[in-house]
Amino acid sequence: MEPTIHLAFVDDWELSGDGSGDPRELQFAPMRELVKIYNRHGIRGSFNAEVMQQVTFRQFQHEHEELRVFADEWETAVKETHRQGHDIQLHIHPQWSDADYQHGKWELKGDWSILNYSADAARQMIARGKDYLESLLRPLDPGYTCVSFRSGSWCVAPSPFLLGLLVEFGIVFDMSIVGGVRYQTRRINLDYSNCEEDFLPFYPVMTDARRVSDKVAPIVCVPTNHFYGSRRLTFQHHLRKIGEKVSAKISPANAPNKKGRTVESYGHEWAQASHSSTFTRLYEKGVLPYIKGKHLISDLAQLDYDLMREMLSSIRRRARASRLSDIPVVLENHTKDIQNFSAVEQFVSEVSKAPDIKCVTLTELARELQQGRFEIKTASTAA
Ligand SMILES: [Zn+2]
Repeated sequence: MEPTIHLAFVDDWELSGDGSGDPRELQFAPMRELVKIYNRHGIRGSFNAEVMQQVTFRQFQHEHEELRVFADEWETAVKETHRQGHDIQLHIHPQWSDADYQHGKWELKGDWSILNYSADAARQMIARGKDYLESLLRPLDPGYTCVSFRSGSWCVAPSPFLLGLLVEFGIVFDMSIVGGVRYQTRRINLDYSNCEEDFLPFYPVMTDARRVSDKVAPIVCVPTNHFYGSRRLTFQHHLRKIGEKVSAKISPANAPNKKGRTVESYGHEWAQASHSSTFTRLYEKGVLPYIKGKHLISDLAQLDYDLMREMLSSIRRRARASRLSDIPVVLENHTKDIQNFSAVEQFVSEVSKAPDIKCVTLTELARELQQGRFEIKTASTAA
């Protein structure tokens, strides 16, 4: 019997990490476009609404009317999406906690990682975010609750308090772990290169979600999927990205359709501030991907259709190898970075017809976890 894959299409819905970009262009319009795609193929998706941004817009709206207009449109977009059956869940970028707004531009001075805040400061951010979303959506849906969490820039572990806080606020599962991710950037220092589980749901060690607990924990981790792209596609993908960069430089009019956001913005945000030698960097970026395959987060905005298909093959292969009957898989996407909606649509269409895939929202996934639909790993059940 083929295992059933319970697949969640998840999108982190937000402006650029430094607060730049036009919300209409990076958020409202592409969200509507994505919702239309989901609707056409009869599936329901989930959006992790970054709430710190919205709360900060509201804080500054008294002096800046344009921020009020944006914040109102943000609410309209969220409500519209929810009304059409899609899910809205909690996402927090703490850099908004210390913000300045001048001449129409944000300066975000807060630390990018929630792990670098005190437990009290983190508690306040989570409480505000949860309260904002629930107050907004309960009038439409009295049963609405925040049940899942994805931390800004994936920062969830290690932490002496973060998972405990999520439990306090009734969060059923976290999806901030992505196996193999390692960032040493100007803003983020994160090492998930040795996660004990990077595919199946598991009970985490409460102070370090990179590790699987030997007993049942009050929260579950469902890793965000990652995979290794083949050498052939990695090579083609590299070429195309270089091509996009070059054409954006030669003629900004040919640049991908989003003015405030290009392939380069993404690269800039995630540039490694590594102290390793040129040789090591060359090896890690230029050689290793062609030996092992390239490590890729299952972020649809960063993949072309062929890579999405490789991602799906990898998911099926790992699902079969687990010998379990039902497996939850969480994907990633960023409306702000989607360049090619037709590739996303082609993939959604294929998945919606696959007999072994059931598309679920994050709320449905939380319910299935609570109902015991999935085997949840502990260190003692590990092979
Ligand atoms: Zn984010």
